[in-house]
Amino acid sequence: MDVFTQEMKELLLKEKQEIINKLKEDEDEIRLGLNSDGDDVDIANEADNLKTREIFNQMDSKRLKAIDNALKRINDNRYGYCLQCGKKIPEGRLRAMPSAVLCITCKEMQERYKAG
Ligand SMILES: [Zn+2]
Repeated sequence: MDVFTQEMKELLLKEKQEIINKLKEDEDEIRLGLNSDGDDVDIANEADNLKTREIFNQMDSKRLKAIDNALKRINDNRYGYCLQCGKKIPEGRLRAMPSAVLCITCKEMQERYKAG
């Protein structure tokens, strides 16, 4: 493994750990909230909070998936190459987003496709 890939692997592992820690903190918060016996809890607000949390968790699990994907590609020796066209992804892009598996051209095409 070259120095750059090693560096990206460390970044990915760090990012993964941060997300996991954050999810754990959220869980603790929910548990504490449920155990509180204050009867002036605003139910509607609480529901809103949970909904917001759910959306964030979805984003986090997406990010976790992307990180795992990238880590898998490191293990397979394919990290840094576009999943779509096989071209090398510029180091600058990977530094900004270590979990990127598409080059900018393919990413833009994918987004245009998604937009309709
Ligand atoms: Zn590409």
